[in-house]
Amino acid sequence: MITIKNLQKTYRQGNRIVEAVKDVNIEVKKGEIFGVIGFSGAGKSTLIRCVNLLEKPTSGLVQVNGLELTSLTEPELRAARRKIGMIFQHFNLLSSSTVFENVAAPLRLARAPKKQIEEKVNELLRLVGLADKGGSYPSQLSGGQKQRVAIARALANDPEILLCDEATSALDPQTTDSILELLLDINRRFDITIMLITHEMYVIKQICDRVAVMEQGAVVEQGTVLDIFARP
Ligand code: ADP
Ligand code: ADP
Repeated sequence: MITIKNLQKTYRQGNRIVEAVKDVNIEVKKGEIFGVIGFSGAGKSTLIRCVNLLEKPTSGLVQVNGLELTSLTEPELRAARRKIGMIFQHFNLLSSSTVFENVAAPLRLARAPKKQIEEKVNELLRLVGLADKGGSYPSQLSGGQKQRVAIARALANDPEILLCDEATSALDPQTTDSILELLLDINRRFDITIMLITHEMYVIKQICDRVAVMEQGAVVEQGTVLDIFARP
């Protein structure tokens, strides 16, 4: 589903070159939940942002469903990205738009008909448990509710892949559990492949099938969660 081959990303910081991602190889299979864990600065965020080309790799390949993303033109890439949803640590909602409009945004961009947008948004809000919040603004919601809105928005174009960048790191333990449950439910119900990054072992143990451990830009271990970390 997702093939990352010899991926490398370097940044220039003043006159210093930082190798944020060094020769990473990962294969995420259809329908699995794949986690990448590591300390702050390990390169996790850079890696996951390379999967939808929010960040352009310095070298290496990123293939999604056999499609080589690094060789696509801008319009082709835009189309490919519709099949890849993403959620973030700080939710990245539009604060001046209602919950309904936040979830509708990707559908409006895709020029979906009005009626279809309304049906889809209401279905998604029901799915994430916010059927009665369509008219609210993000500032009126709790952190967990904001992440639910972000998840609904990420699912608007029926993606095959959901990328999660520290999606529960800003949430308390109870809310973290409810968001992880929702992700697991979405994974099972729609067979959506999930790739997530986290610095929390708990997240990996709760929902991931396989895991890669990153240190200083490199993957130092990779395997099933059971193989790499014994469950408590
Ligand atoms: P993590 O997500 O594991 O905390 P990051 O991918 O954010 O790690 O960062 C990996 C390394 O790359 C760090 O040294 C960070 O400072 C550097 N880095 C990340 N993004 C940029 C950028 N846009 N410009 C320069 N350096 C960056
Ligand atoms: P998070 O871990 O929540 O993603 P970060 O603070 O690591 O937040 O990064 C926020 C943004 O800043 C990202 O787009 C990342 O690529 C960029 N970034 C991280 N480190 C640096 C850096 N040293 N110089 C410039 N940009 C950076």
